[in-house]
Amino acid sequence: MTVTTVAAYAAPAPKAPLERTTVPRRPVGEHDVLIDIKFAGICHSDIHQARDGWGEGIFPMVPGHEIAGIVAEVGSGVTKFAVGDRVGVGCMVDSCRECDNCKAGLEQYCSQGNTGTYNALDKQGEPTYGGYSTHVVVDENYTLRIPDGIGLDVAAPLLCAGITTYSPLAHWNAGPGKKVAIVGLGGLGHMGVKIAHAMGAEVTVLSQSLRKQEDGLKLGADHYYATSDPKTFDELRGTLDLIVSTVSAPLPLDSYLSLLKTDGAMINVGAPEEPVSLNLFSVIGGRKTLAGSGIGGIRETQEMLDFCAEHGLGAEIEVIAADRINEAYERVLSSDVRYRFVIDTATI
Ligand code: NAP
Ligand code: ZN
Ligand code: ZN
Repeated sequence: MTVTTVAAYAAPAPKAPLERTTVPRRPVGEHDVLIDIKFAGICHSDIHQARDGWGEGIFPMVPGHEIAGIVAEVGSGVTKFAVGDRVGVGCMVDSCRECDNCKAGLEQYCSQGNTGTYNALDKQGEPTYGGYSTHVVVDENYTLRIPDGIGLDVAAPLLCAGITTYSPLAHWNAGPGKKVAIVGLGGLGHMGVKIAHAMGAEVTVLSQSLRKQEDGLKLGADHYYATSDPKTFDELRGTLDLIVSTVSAPLPLDSYLSLLKTDGAMINVGAPEEPVSLNLFSVIGGRKTLAGSGIGGIRETQEMLDFCAEHGLGAEIEVIAADRINEAYERVLSSDVRYRFVIDTATI
């Protein structure tokens, strides 16, 4: 089968509602796999980009970088996958493959810039279109294997929400004896709680309110605090080893940094549209680290999928038909998501 035009949902222009359309897919090349997409998660990054919140995007835009599906065709040189395999694609579909970062398995930090799954130009200069679609053609080296133990629907969000929280938790050694806080219990946050708990850390959720407390404790949190309550910041002062913030809006960083122990680290994965301010004394006192982290490399993404299968982890999802994408966007923006919307691509 050679697919050249496929059905998709796209934002035709910045801030415009998404609508059904068709987009081109390249013929299957020597090292490509054609994926019959079954499910695509809705990440808050899709909303930032479809609304031009991070700067000028490429339109029409087909978002979606949490893709799970089945291999439908392979190129003549493909060695890693066969027709019928369960596969995933995350936030990138290519990178230079030659720079130090690519060679180290840190393709997400490729010095030439990785090729985003959507809202990017590929090496031929053609726009990439994401997972809100029926099929996609991806190089086998940027395709992941979804282990048998995880349903494709609950696996889709692991390709971004899972790896984006797994990577900093692993890098900053979340594990037994470590007190880890996850800020924001949304798509990324709920996976952060599950993964940090599975790594053996003592997990605290810092959420705007106690509305989702019961869920948070079921997901694996040991403690749950409302950041709207000023007493939270007094009670937790100087107690945490690691904070991972998944918040999509600017946070008062100084208050959060005050919760760290000496040598503690706060890692920001949330990507707000506006800059934040910082009093540097918040990191000077206590030799604290404030860092950021972006998704994860291909090798690490596979490691994360295998870790999730081993620990029985998938996302908590609400499966929706494609004609509810715009409504789902509004619900994500009002923190009314439990905990990831996933599009059933059969409805596109
Ligand atoms: P999400 O599902 O909307 O979750 C974000 C959570 O942040 C919300 O559920 C809410 O949790 C909290 N929050 C929202 N607005 C807030 C505010 N004004 N003040 C305090 N807390 C607030 O979004 P997501 O898909 O998890 O993505 C989160 C962020 O990570 C986005 O900015 C996204 O672009 C970014 N991201 C970054 C990477 C990366 O590689 N670094 C990868 C993927 C996504 P509570 O209701 O519990 O307070
Ligand atoms: Zn994402
Ligand atoms: Zn590179």
